[in-house]
Amino acid sequence: MADQAPLICRDIHKTFNKLEVLKGISLETRKGDVVSLIGSSGSGKSTFLRCINLLETPTSGDIIVHGDPIRFKENRKGERVPADNRQVELIRAKLSMVFQGFNLWSHMTVLENIIEAPVHVLKVPKKEAIERAEAYLQKVGIYERKDYYPAQMSGGQQQRAAIARALAMEPEVMLFDEPTSALDPELVGEVLKVMQSLAEEGRTMIVVTHEMAFARDVSTQVLFLHQGVIEEQGTPDKVFDNPESERMKQFLAPKF
Ligand code: ADP
Ligand code: MG
Repeated sequence: MADQAPLICRDIHKTFNKLEVLKGISLETRKGDVVSLIGSSGSGKSTFLRCINLLETPTSGDIIVHGDPIRFKENRKGERVPADNRQVELIRAKLSMVFQGFNLWSHMTVLENIIEAPVHVLKVPKKEAIERAEAYLQKVGIYERKDYYPAQMSGGQQQRAAIARALAMEPEVMLFDEPTSALDPELVGEVLKVMQSLAEEGRTMIVVTHEMAFARDVSTQVLFLHQGVIEEQGTPDKVFDNPESERMKQFLAPKF
């Protein structure tokens, strides 16, 4: 169905050993939503993203991707784990992630990095995967770097390559975990510009970010996380201009 929510998360909890890091996070997206996830370091932002694409298994709660609930089971130790490894692979393709540290394979060229998962996970014929990869490299503006190795490129170019790699999975939702935090300040803009153009194309995105101007100007929803709880949630206008929570007000206050 065309108007089915790309991603629904219901009451996600995550406990590491005895530490409860996520205490019931719910999120519903519509197609084209750009959700900014903000909050202090340690508030659980990365853990939430990692639960969404099953890099971590939520201790409880439901994740529904375009109408398809992720199936879990209990393993022999009584821990919750995904029930179906093939579903996990496909979920990671549908919810492709861009990491702070790019996570490109250093022994592969940019083009090889981009076609790897489409060919091996999605079984796209190699020729078609290359054509698609080249189109996405054009889109992020580094087509002429396609045969470079990651170490031969700037951080901004590497991150744009990682975005092209995520796009090549033709994901339902793109997840970004502080995509500009590892970049030299002069390279942040080129990556934000690519992300903004993806948002304008109507791609559904969840972005963990400290770039408040991006969160305010580009998002449709903002979630402010504090100690594993959503403290404030709403449109950027509401969250930034009329926050209800004291913690959100403190978070926004200028720091010297
Ligand atoms: P954020 O991305 O908002 O900075 P994180 O999600 O990385 O926060 O971390 C939230 C909390 O969860 C922190 O206290 C962190 O130490 C803890 N945490 C994250 N991952 C693990 C893990 N694999 N094992 C134990 N604790 C973890
Ligand atoms: Mg983090």
